[in-house]
Amino acid sequence: MIHFNQPHLTGKETEYIAEAVLKNGKLSGNGEFTKRCQRFFEERFGFKKCLLTTSCTDALEMAALLCDLKPGDEVIVPSYTFVSSALAFVREGARIVFADSMSRNPNIDADQIEALITPRTKVIVPVHYAGVACDMDKIMALAEKYNLIVVEDAAQAIDSYYKGRPLGTIGHLSAFSFHETKNIIAGEGGLLGINDERFIRRSEILWEKGTNRAEFFRGEVNKYGWCDIGSSFLPSELTAAFLWAQLESMDEIQDRRKMLWNEYAHLLKPLADAGRFTLPDIPEYATNNAHMFYLVLPSLEKRTELIRRLREEDILAVFHYLSLHSSPYYADKHDGRRLPQSDRYSDCLVRLPMYYDLELETVRQIVEIIAR
Ligand SMILES: *Cc1c(COP(=O)(O)O)cnc(C)c1O
Repeated sequence: MIHFNQPHLTGKETEYIAEAVLKNGKLSGNGEFTKRCQRFFEERFGFKKCLLTTSCTDALEMAALLCDLKPGDEVIVPSYTFVSSALAFVREGARIVFADSMSRNPNIDADQIEALITPRTKVIVPVHYAGVACDMDKIMALAEKYNLIVVEDAAQAIDSYYKGRPLGTIGHLSAFSFHETKNIIAGEGGLLGINDERFIRRSEILWEKGTNRAEFFRGEVNKYGWCDIGSSFLPSELTAAFLWAQLESMDEIQDRRKMLWNEYAHLLKPLADAGRFTLPDIPEYATNNAHMFYLVLPSLEKRTELIRRLREEDILAVFHYLSLHSSPYYADKHDGRRLPQSDRYSDCLVRLPMYYDLELETVRQIVEIIAR
């Protein structure tokens, strides 16, 4: 059976977990490995500050808290995304105004955002689908014009770039995921990226259960106490030690994934040229971090048929994201606008197996079956 994802281990994970346990003797959060992982992101990509979290969902929840929303404030989110991109803001009482995707790829259509902005709009949440950048210049220009906060959902976008700038460093805040289905994993894990200084102090307090404990441990205050709301957003050192092993191998992991991705793209191009489906679109302003290889079929029937044919050969291809605007939870709260591109990707997009330990030979077999 060829699964669509398989978590990759670098071999160093258990060594670093043992080091956290035996040498450092510190298992709770914000220890040596946590600091090392955060520094890695800050130095390599240029964030003002990073905080490890227990998931990308948690990082999005922290971002939503930092936005200081009032009930009825509006947040613009693409409908074609994972639940958490919207859920984190719904929990703060926001009304989600769903945006449609582009026709060329599933990212939010930046040209349609301005028409959705009202005096109640507070936040825009671009989601870099498949690790491919949204058109951030247009989105940041709108944020400036209307005084909005931009929270990048960069769950899939580690080590990917927009016009040379790392994704996650462009908006005011951003969230990454280390869930086992992503490029760099820690089982469950995430990271909040902070690019706007006004959020730094409060982010540390929210992270540590509403206390100024981080300042206390740096010796900046002589006692710590309850200052604000918050939660226990920080992961244990065991998670951070695992993640450190992955981050050390990031370049190798990314190179191999890109090699496999390029093989798919090369072998599938003649079929795409013949009109069987479309291949992933990488705009000129974006890079590809090989998070995902997807095809967009001409219809739901053709997609169902392809998934069934692959399944018959023990290959698991999957579809995902059903438009959130018509989900059981949100359908009666949505304003009724049709979002045709989001619905088209919900019906027609399929993800092919894509993971580090996939063999080139398997990629070729999968393509042969698709070609039949
Ligand atoms: C995976 C993913 C998330 C959620 O990440 P978790 O770490 O599982 O919370 C959020 N948004 C997008 C776009 C994702 O792909």
